[in-house]
Amino acid sequence: MLLEHLRAKLSAIEAQSLTRFLRQAESPTAPRQQVRGADGVTRELLMFCSNDYLGLAAEPQITAALIEGAMIYGGGSGASPLISGHSRAHEQVAETLSAWMAPHIPEAKALGFCTGYMANLAVVTALGDEQTEIFSEAWNHASLIDGSRLARAQVTRYAHADVAQLRGLLAASQAKVKLIVTDAVFSMDGDLAPLPELLALADDFDAWLIVDDAHGFGVLGERGRGSLEHFKLRSERLILVGTLGKAAGLAGAFVVAHATITDYLLQAARNYIFSTASPPAIEHALLTSLALIESDLGAERRANLRRLQAQLRVGIAAMLARHPALGWRLAPSDTPVQPLIIGGNAEVMALAARLEREGLRVPGIRPPTVPAGEARLRITLCATHVEADVDRLLLALAAAAADMDVSTP
Ligand SMILES: *Cc1c(COP(=O)(O)O)cnc(C)c1O
Repeated sequence: MLLEHLRAKLSAIEAQSLTRFLRQAESPTAPRQQVRGADGVTRELLMFCSNDYLGLAAEPQITAALIEGAMIYGGGSGASPLISGHSRAHEQVAETLSAWMAPHIPEAKALGFCTGYMANLAVVTALGDEQTEIFSEAWNHASLIDGSRLARAQVTRYAHADVAQLRGLLAASQAKVKLIVTDAVFSMDGDLAPLPELLALADDFDAWLIVDDAHGFGVLGERGRGSLEHFKLRSERLILVGTLGKAAGLAGAFVVAHATITDYLLQAARNYIFSTASPPAIEHALLTSLALIESDLGAERRANLRRLQAQLRVGIAAMLARHPALGWRLAPSDTPVQPLIIGGNAEVMALAARLEREGLRVPGIRPPTVPAGEARLRITLCATHVEADVDRLLLALAAAAADMDVSTP
């Protein structure tokens, strides 16, 4: 009976071409990776799908630091941070991130988390109390949406990047505390939130601005400090959340905000207090990762990302111009997240499967992750891709487009 109930749900998912399945990586995260598919066969794929934007996930200096960290601290942290899980390495990572954000947030202080998902739940639930109204951007990441659902606050959604609508909602709000919550770089679209305008609204209406920089940290800004550096923002209203599992190449996450906020999170954020601290070896290795992000190597990799983005966009635009009948479009994006919007679920999955047969892994993203009718290939670039890799993707896309375009003779 219980199993039948779930089997019916699984069939409904399958009928909509929405079934997801796991593949198995058998070599380090890199543009070329050994992947075992659902058919049990292992192949080398050219990957356009990870969030390892700077190619640090398999960087030898970081792997060496991870080994060194394990020799110093051993394996697990053993407890939650307030009991005994907070190591010197955890403290050093927090100090580094506080210093990085000091130009952007007065009295900046960092608090570490195991994942970005947890960090988002923590800030939104701890700050979103009964006296608060949360203003949540429509395209926010699932973790921010889940945080809003768990919070005791009233939640009001505003349309994507709609600053005028948000102004109206803030003006009408009677709440004692107002909390604007947004992704900095939208994870399925690659575009940037209008952070300067949002911060101006926060000033006008005495609100906090929570910025989730999962995809900007390491990538944006001259020194890779992310969206706040990119937009040259500074305010004590800014509450920055970032993950260390994407461009930083490891795992973990952080909140950086005015010390009063992080001091409060330490007392009130339940998923900080009641969850085991990350392994200290990872924190030790993060010190190397952060140093690399800031170094010449980091700067060169960011420059290479911008070159690859331009190459990809020019190539896809030319392909789309030849096949207007397909109705595909390239989303406007100035980041390594470059979505090619296809439309239907079955269509995008057929395209992704065809690319995978040709040795290219570009994931199809379907609802509910993106709106219905906007299923897409989410192409992500990595700084260690080379020009020939992007050429190979462009050729494969052009061939697929020619085959799928019924208007071509
Ligand atoms: C990936 C992601 C997160 C979650 O970070 P993890 O460290 O992977 O848990 C949060 N917000 C956004 C926008 C993301 O893309």
